[in-house]
Amino acid sequence: MLLDANAAARAVVQGLLQAEGAEVRTFGHGEEALQALADGMRIDFVLVSRHLPDMGALELLRRVRQMPGRALLPMVLITGDVDEPLRLSALEGGFTEVLWRAAPEQLAPHLRALLRRQADLQRARILLVDDSPAMAAVTAEALAPMGMEIEHVLQGQQALERLEQRSYDLVIVDVVLPGALTGLGLLAAIRSRRDDLAELPVLACSAYDERARRVEMLRRGANDYVTKPIDADELCARAANLVRYWRLLQQVRHQHALLARQAVTDALTGLHNRYLLDELGPRYVRRAWRGGEPLAAMMLDLDHFKDINDQHGHDRGDQVLRELAQRLREQVRPEDVLVRYGGEEFALLLPRLGAAVAQAHAERLRQAVAQRPLAGLALTASIGVCVWQPAPTPGAASQAEQAAAVLRGLLMHADRCLYRAKGAGRNRCEIDVIEAAPRA
Ligand code: GH3
Ligand code: MG
Ligand code: MG
Repeated sequence: MLLDANAAARAVVQGLLQAEGAEVRTFGHGEEALQALADGMRIDFVLVSRHLPDMGALELLRRVRQMPGRALLPMVLITGDVDEPLRLSALEGGFTEVLWRAAPEQLAPHLRALLRRQADLQRARILLVDDSPAMAAVTAEALAPMGMEIEHVLQGQQALERLEQRSYDLVIVDVVLPGALTGLGLLAAIRSRRDDLAELPVLACSAYDERARRVEMLRRGANDYVTKPIDADELCARAANLVRYWRLLQQVRHQHALLARQAVTDALTGLHNRYLLDELGPRYVRRAWRGGEPLAAMMLDLDHFKDINDQHGHDRGDQVLRELAQRLREQVRPEDVLVRYGGEEFALLLPRLGAAVAQAHAERLRQAVAQRPLAGLALTASIGVCVWQPAPTPGAASQAEQAAAVLRGLLMHADRCLYRAKGAGRNRCEIDVIEAAPRA
């Protein structure tokens, strides 16, 4: 809903909103808009300019807020002035947000964020757990203006089953429930989960005189509560806050997972980088050491790669590295760790590979590089291999640093073998077999 006395200014904002796929209703007068709201028009938010022919924006705000079910309707003031005192007084007066119309390039992202936030709220799904169908109907009706999807179950056990089947953004639970699982029990079952659902927001719902139960719910991790008889506006406000909190939490989790993945991924080749080796390697060392199984480390380095860059350019060099990564990827088993260790150097960790097999495998890798051109260029690689064959040592490397030091030692030894291969003429493999735990 867009209210602006100035038709030209109105058209600009309307265009921006429509470009984002929003359906816009426009009004030039406050009374017309209030009438449409009173008639029950479904809208997501109101954008209003400071002055309308028949009332000011604050007057409109005050009257909208008095309407049943409109207490939470986002009201956005849109103004030509960039006056901080004005902005603060508008927010103080109850506007959700103040937007500056003179900068359409800033207005568009703000409007987009506003639309997304509203759409997010409406996509929310609430699980309502109440043994009284009448009470549940009252609660659902109170929540109706927010447009969220509401599912009702009668018992705690049913709620747990639903949580397994679908995703929810909020659980509203009556503290007194019949059956094996009380409100407290349901809350405990959610909070003790080992997955992300452990933090699912829970809003407790209790009669006014159930103070002890209510406090216990909060102590055990309920996020908020409402008391019966339910105040619809209060319930909506609390529910909306919790849904927003949950969305934010999910956003943070998503970003965290993304960053964690990026941190162990090499951007050029898409292979893992050495941080993954640092993370996984000690586990491989420990398993090999305790079980007395061989563990092979390999270092592979392109020969005269600097010349490729010099003669064909850095981009072509990058292409070589990408194709090399793909070729190496095809040569490893699922349990092997393959990483881009640095510039044109790749490291591999291969569990349960004895000396003879490791030697043959390194030879196969060398041939995979030399056999066919990479990015149209003939290249070779040198490989250093260190195979560690430990005696079975139960309980070995119980300290993380021990395993990490062995890993470093193993890689350093493989690196020494690599330089031996370089010194001996390149395009070859050099292998050492050791029994004692290598040290960095
Ligand atoms: P050697 O046979 O002794 O290994 O000779 P080399 O030329 O391969 O060895 P050196 O270590 O002197 O040079 C490696 C080169 O790899 C230098 C650097 O410019 C290049 N390099 C490192 N990272 C990248 C990268 O991401 N892209 C490109 N195109 N080149 C890279
Ligand atoms: Mg090199
Ligand atoms: Mg190098």
